[in-house]
Amino acid sequence: MGPKKSPIEIMITFPAMVVLLLAASLLSSASDKHEPGSSQRIAELTTDPRYLSPWVSYVPDSKSVPSPKKFLGRIIGEQGELSRLSQIYGYFRELARTSGRVQVEVIGKSEEGREIILVAIADESGIRNLPLLKKATAALADPRRTSPETAEKIIAAARPIYYLNAGLHADETGSPEMCLELAYRLAVSEQPMIQQIRRNVVVLINPVSEPDGHEKMVDWFYRYLKGRTDYDSLPRQSPPYWGRYVYVDINRDAHQQAMAATRAVFRMFFDYHPTVVHDLHEAIALLQTWNGTGPYNPHLDPIVTSQFLEMSFHEVKTLTALGMPGVWTWNFGENFGLHYLDSIALNHNGLGRGYETFGNATAETVQRTISKEETTREWYRPWPSDRSFRWSMRDNVNYQETACLSILDYTAKHAQDMLLDFFRTGFKSWQAGQTGRPSAYVIPEDQGDRKRVADMVNRLLAQGIEVGQAAEPVVVSEGIFPQGSYVVALDQPYRNYAVDLLEPQKFPADAADLPYDDVSWALPVHYGIEAKPVDDPKIRQAIVTPLTGEVHPAGRVNGTGPFFLIKDTGQEALFAARFRLAKFAVEIAEDPFRIAGTDYPAGSWVLRSQDELEPAIRKVASELALDFDSTSPIPEVRRHDAGVPRLGIYVPWADTDSIGWIRYALDKERIPYVYLRDEDIREGCLLGRVDVILYGDVRLDLQGQIHGIAPTSGPMPFKPSPEFPNLGTPIASEDITGGLGWTGLSSLQRFLNEGGMLITLGNATTLALDGGLVRNVRRARDQGVQTHGVELKVRFVSPGHPISYGYLPVTSAFRSNYAVYDLPRRWLEMAYCTSCLDGPVDRRGVVLQWGTRPLTEEAEPGGSHSPEESPESMVVSGGARGAEKLAGRPAILDLPSGRGRVIAFNFNPIHRDLNHSDARFLWNAILNWKKILSKAPLPKNS
Ligand SMILES: [Zn+2]
Repeated sequence: MGPKKSPIEIMITFPAMVVLLLAASLLSSASDKHEPGSSQRIAELTTDPRYLSPWVSYVPDSKSVPSPKKFLGRIIGEQGELSRLSQIYGYFRELARTSGRVQVEVIGKSEEGREIILVAIADESGIRNLPLLKKATAALADPRRTSPETAEKIIAAARPIYYLNAGLHADETGSPEMCLELAYRLAVSEQPMIQQIRRNVVVLINPVSEPDGHEKMVDWFYRYLKGRTDYDSLPRQSPPYWGRYVYVDINRDAHQQAMAATRAVFRMFFDYHPTVVHDLHEAIALLQTWNGTGPYNPHLDPIVTSQFLEMSFHEVKTLTALGMPGVWTWNFGENFGLHYLDSIALNHNGLGRGYETFGNATAETVQRTISKEETTREWYRPWPSDRSFRWSMRDNVNYQETACLSILDYTAKHAQDMLLDFFRTGFKSWQAGQTGRPSAYVIPEDQGDRKRVADMVNRLLAQGIEVGQAAEPVVVSEGIFPQGSYVVALDQPYRNYAVDLLEPQKFPADAADLPYDDVSWALPVHYGIEAKPVDDPKIRQAIVTPLTGEVHPAGRVNGTGPFFLIKDTGQEALFAARFRLAKFAVEIAEDPFRIAGTDYPAGSWVLRSQDELEPAIRKVASELALDFDSTSPIPEVRRHDAGVPRLGIYVPWADTDSIGWIRYALDKERIPYVYLRDEDIREGCLLGRVDVILYGDVRLDLQGQIHGIAPTSGPMPFKPSPEFPNLGTPIASEDITGGLGWTGLSSLQRFLNEGGMLITLGNATTLALDGGLVRNVRRARDQGVQTHGVELKVRFVSPGHPISYGYLPVTSAFRSNYAVYDLPRRWLEMAYCTSCLDGPVDRRGVVLQWGTRPLTEEAEPGGSHSPEESPESMVVSGGARGAEKLAGRPAILDLPSGRGRVIAFNFNPIHRDLNHSDARFLWNAILNWKKILSKAPLPKNS
């Protein structure tokens, strides 16, 4: 089965190909009339002649199609200029209006309501026949309905679809500009190389993948950066917000699809089945073409891993041959974790790739210096760049556009091979599901939280993974699964990705380098759900109804009251339910109890008879898949009031990214909260506004957390104005500099002294523990623990603590790299008498520990770790180094501070909409705030 040559390739004899290639690389402008003045201005804007290639040294002239310059009044890469969304979208729509080779469609809408568009470019017949070309790639993507023989026939008339994703990270401003010129060049140039690209390929461009961030960034540039050319004295180079929720993390959402930018790319993907998804980033000099060092994700087909290496080396070689220094590959990332936007393709039998070019964040030309390590000559970096150089927006455009043209040229020349490899990869994945192990995964429908099971199933469906529901009990050698169980049969094209999502990850312990990002994403692990692998091939005979849309189970209300109970089986949605039932009294049982033959664990809800309660309960049950039992009389069990707290979310201006995921989670469930900015904390009187302050994970050290953005350039307002309408969203400020400051720290201390609850997550815990809001907890001497986003075993040290509700005594939690803390050095004499909280309670304030080895009475406060705990036994999914140093050390602390309480997490329970099984740790602390606070001691001298 070999690739067939297209008629075009057959027509062109070998010597003719050589002539064409020469023409392309050396005499590229021969077939094009130049737009007057374009070569001169491009040369002027390029800081070193080596930073320019003949391919992009001019702009072709066209009588009928306006160039970017005719539309914008300036050439692309003009210094000190950035294009607004209306200009970019306006230009692409003008291109589509004036050229039969361009089409524009809308593929999504951002969180703030801006369009996300997709531009398709091909020759006229390619655009006319897009529906047929899409049909062809869709057929190649499903080897069940396309035999290898049929595939060969389809490939002869099909084209690879090459998708470029620009403007994902808002402060990387070069790619949306570059795409304007690239699209125009592809549409009008008559240069033979471009003609061949138009003829053999469909090029897709998403010019601004994250439009909310782009608009804020352009405003920010004109407000704070324009005209400033001393790079080292630039003020903060990007606004505090890009999207409504997250900024850098917008590129860590491929598995979750929580963000509109990601969902738009999925919509494109399942519509076009592109051969390549290619992200354009701007963080490495001068051009780095991604493929990762390995260890590669074990579910990537070897066809894919060899193909992306070949393509990267093609770019390195081509640009080097064109005289451009500093182009390199390989030594960046590892391609084990596939959570990035381009990973959508890698996870679905396609090719995911990316560039890092050098961006300045500003559109001005500035002097830059890069590290020595980036300028060594290596096999993967044949011609390093200088260490110090002037760099302009046009330089950035030149590198990006030349590299894009080189890989589109490659794709045009290898069109049929690439399509065949795409088909083969899917075919092999499907075959592995037919003959390999396991045959399927079975996910029981009722595992204590039917909504969470459904959410996970819906996530699989959104990934194009087929799931069915058992129409009758499934009997296989692994056991009997009840009717209604979800079945992921693996004889499907995306089998490899299904396995990747459903099996725990194993990052090789002996890998040469540490991973670049998270190494655990297994959905069952992070949803706290069982997905049972079934090897027995009999599972294929099970009667299963394919799911054609999302599943939304409803809860049951048994009886009509007047009292209602909810059995706490770990439901994540209890938190949302409490706020939807805000006007009703809810009590939480502190002990297990039994009523009418049903056992209710501690944490179960008791709702006494209240007006209008029943209809409200029916609504919540149906929306959140919660089961209520009515009872009479009310059970005799110790319980406490779960009063709805006034919740404050503190978001420092210096880093809004990770906390954006908390805001996202709360907004999604319509949970009200007070947004607290640095200035709100500084202002004080916090207890007058909120009961609980949640301070989420931040990528800031202690100094950064206290002092925030440096006020070196004076106050920096972030607020809308007629000139800069996009600033100030989602919340405005007169001045984002200065952080909490000492004043803010003092307000927080006062909030605690007066009886507030402060919850710190991940790195924010630094402020509480190292910043001195509580006493007696020190960083462990032994740091060096590497947990790059892994799932580790944890054990409740204080099983009676409300944070333990809904969990087993030994469970697991997701940990990124945070400081390791010792056990508190002193017993908290006053904090916890045994009667304060029910059940055994650790008197040092440890609620949850890393690892499972019990802390013994003999263990010294602040004592050493538990050497018996092996790192392998602690890791549930991912891979860690030095995890044994964590064993026995605190994962959650509950510490008194004045009349108040600090709940300090040594991990982030709300990480990128991923670790849903950790959410209840946090929700429990918030729902039971009154109970936890009620046992806070008075300070001795008060
Ligand atoms: Zn980036």
